[in-house]
Amino acid sequence: MAVLRATQREDASLEALIHCLESDPASVLRVLKAANARCATHGLSATSVFGAAVVLGPRELRATALRFTLLSSNRASLCEHFDYEAFWSWSLASAYAARRLAELSGDCDPGEAYVCGLLAHCGELALACAHPKEVDRLRALHAHESLEVLLEAERETFEIHRWEVSAALMGECGLPARFAAAALALDRTKSPDPEEDELTRRLGLLVDAGTLAADWITGSRLRSASRDELWEGLVALGASLSIDEGELRSALEGAQKSWESGRQQARIHAQEVPIQPAVMPVVEAEPELAAAVKAIKVLVVDDDTKLRRLLTHLLLSAGYQVVEAADGEAGLSLALQESPQIVVTDWSMPGMSGLELCRTLRRMESGRRTFVLMLTAREEEERVLDAFNSGADDYVTKPFNPRILLARVQAGRRLIELQQQVESDKVERLKQVADMGLLTRRLRTAASTDFLTELPNRRYAMSRLELEWQAAERLGRPLSVVQVDIDHFKRINDEYGHDVGDLVLKAVSDTLRARTRRGDVVCRMGGEEFLVININSDLAGAWQCAERLRAAVEQSLVHAGEFHGRMTVSLGVAQRHAGMKGPQALLKVGDAAVYEAKAAGRNTIRGERPPGAPVREAG
Ligand code: GH3
Ligand code: MG
Ligand code: MG
Repeated sequence: MAVLRATQREDASLEALIHCLESDPASVLRVLKAANARCATHGLSATSVFGAAVVLGPRELRATALRFTLLSSNRASLCEHFDYEAFWSWSLASAYAARRLAELSGDCDPGEAYVCGLLAHCGELALACAHPKEVDRLRALHAHESLEVLLEAERETFEIHRWEVSAALMGECGLPARFAAAALALDRTKSPDPEEDELTRRLGLLVDAGTLAADWITGSRLRSASRDELWEGLVALGASLSIDEGELRSALEGAQKSWESGRQQARIHAQEVPIQPAVMPVVEAEPELAAAVKAIKVLVVDDDTKLRRLLTHLLLSAGYQVVEAADGEAGLSLALQESPQIVVTDWSMPGMSGLELCRTLRRMESGRRTFVLMLTAREEEERVLDAFNSGADDYVTKPFNPRILLARVQAGRRLIELQQQVESDKVERLKQVADMGLLTRRLRTAASTDFLTELPNRRYAMSRLELEWQAAERLGRPLSVVQVDIDHFKRINDEYGHDVGDLVLKAVSDTLRARTRRGDVVCRMGGEEFLVININSDLAGAWQCAERLRAAVEQSLVHAGEFHGRMTVSLGVAQRHAGMKGPQALLKVGDAAVYEAKAAGRNTIRGERPPGAPVREAG
């Protein structure tokens, strides 16, 4: 309702629209995606709805805002055990809190903290929307267990973590890598990245604090932590952000106030729905017709109480479900909540007229298929073309003959039924596709993991690199790789046997995995060769990663059977350039660099250097 209101007229305030879009995770994602697709080539990115509004301009922003599908029109595909309203309200609290704390701590853009606080959890929503049946099953199964249990079950089922989904969605809409990193940091099973830059670390802290604060403000949604425990956690995080307890309390109380008023403003108010009880005698309809008719919901909108009652009675008698509203505004609100298939509306009413109601319905995804029958007074008959231009399907002149009116509604019903047949085929197909998606994903995981090291294998590495290559091209972001080869590995095999060799290989790969940043991908390419894909990372980042891995392997003591000692690795760094043909070309450059590192005496890094970097001899 709020988006519709804010887009009704060209001159409606842009500020109101931004405010209203800001309160919904899905809208924020969509708007940022549209904006960043536009500005990616300039190396810029919009990180707030306001920024996106600047990039898109008012017209495009309105058009993007309207491209929404309403949850209500799609009830069947929702989870029973996922409280959408609670999720939304909780996310909003987390966003408000993150923004407040950013304002206080002063080293992160508050708008950015807000967006990150709002979107860090959107993966949870995405999973529920993409796999309602599975999510429902998991939530029912683990309803009385801790959040950690549910998270683990979720990870096992989907082979992806909800925060990885958030990170992917944020990356997809062109937000800088620190957003994804902040979401990934919410996964407690992963250790923090030691080389995170300060801005990323701060944003992560704010999002973390926002999460706790949301529980504190709205009441724990799933967590079993008490308010005192939550507060303790908040104080600790506050300290890392140099915010003392007094400031923290007033900030969170402020956030709570914003949250309450934000919720009030954006909420779709439940309309008082005077659904007619069947107090009036219901005329028997023909049996085969009765079943078909019962499935159809008709919304009657008329400011004339007597006429509205008459219409309602007539339709109820014919077996339809009926909801009624006394004016256009209430009618629109009810249309959003109830998704009627047929709307019978009066033309002139105080406030929003029948024409406006019709036009507004037609602008919405779900309202496009509604059958609209307009009631016109004699003097309006001349202007009946206006009604058709506004999107009405048919009209009846008042005073009407009840039989004629019912016949017109009946015609509408037939049309609706045809559409429903088409729709249900489509939904069925969509479901199949979604199930197939999950299945193939599982199969793919099995076929793409290396048995010994449990790292993704070459096959996965190649397809992932291909995907990242395309993303880098599309979004204009950098992409680098680090290739790793264990030094003198053959000697281990020769001296201690193949089994010990396997253990050493596993130990080195564990070190590589543990010391790779979240978001970067380590794969085993075969033998004792590994590849790290540094997503959204330039040469400087890749060199940092390479040096971190080199040092970590050199320092860690390996105990494997009879072997006790340290291993070393040689590394090659390469970055994607505009002129390169494809991932193969990139790997070739990396291979040559590894070869150079071996020739230079091993335990060192070679490859193209970042501009201005000092040449440092490692090892
Ligand atoms: P360099 O420093 O030049 O890389 O020497 P290297 O000995 O590490 O390299 P080379 O490529 O000559 O030998 C790699 C050896 O790794 C040969 C192969 O037997 C061994 N290898 C490959 N895969 C496995 C495996 O899964 N387990 C074990 N134990 N050994 C493996
Ligand atoms: Mg080798
Ligand atoms: Mg080797």
